[in-house]
Amino acid sequence: MMEKSLSNTQTSFSDIKESYEQICADIKKVMAEAGRTDEVKLMAVTKTVDTERVNYAIGLGVDLLGENRVQEFLDKREGYKPAEVHFIGGLQTNKVKYIIDKVTMIHSVDSVRLAQEISRRAAQHGKIMDILVEVNIGEEDTKGGISPQSVRELCSEVISLPNIRLRGLMTIPPPWCSEEIFAAMQKLFEDIKAHPLPNSSEDNFKFDTLSMGMSGDYATAIKYGSTIIRIGSGLFGYRKYTNN
Ligand SMILES: *Cc1c(COP(=O)(O)O)cnc(C)c1O
Repeated sequence: MMEKSLSNTQTSFSDIKESYEQICADIKKVMAEAGRTDEVKLMAVTKTVDTERVNYAIGLGVDLLGENRVQEFLDKREGYKPAEVHFIGGLQTNKVKYIIDKVTMIHSVDSVRLAQEISRRAAQHGKIMDILVEVNIGEEDTKGGISPQSVRELCSEVISLPNIRLRGLMTIPPPWCSEEIFAAMQKLFEDIKAHPLPNSSEDNFKFDTLSMGMSGDYATAIKYGSTIIRIGSGLFGYRKYTNN
């Protein structure tokens, strides 16, 4: 898997540092403009990035990593400096067992079947797994996530599982989409937060996370309430790879 992806070895440490500082400054600026006094978390998305560069970013202050390929994560994780890790990529049910004890949140839950497997495996490790439901807010055929109309229903089903705690929603808006899409996502998130699901309790429902915004759209995402932005190329440089 790794050999199919040319890693971003051309990006210098000083470029990463400069990008990191720029993104942190942007976050502050957009938060102020939006009148937000809560917090936005910067996640470094590590796909195709070598551990040396990931560790450099951790040294700069990044403390949350986003992984989206199971095998690549398993290959690289031993080399990482301490950091929290979230799984953000499409996840097949038969791969859940490999990551369940190695991540603190799964952002990409888009079916009951996947949630059931996560709950089952979490139980085996005696843990409660934090998850986000992934929403296909642009209703694009090619994307993971469920349609906005089905979100409430899936959230209700997910919280009925014993070893899952629902923390919020995740989305990948269509490239170049209008701000209305971000606003719609924010509304969906705020509606569920304001009208908790039947049978929700402190144990299975802590709806505080909206994972939205990548290198190209994080400023807009923050404006519309994102609490985690997931940054890959904006930090580590452009990926050149052939298999995704
Ligand atoms: C790759 C990836 C990102 C980061 O994308 P960039 O545009 O490189 O910042 C964010 N979220 C997910 C789910 C990804 O797969």
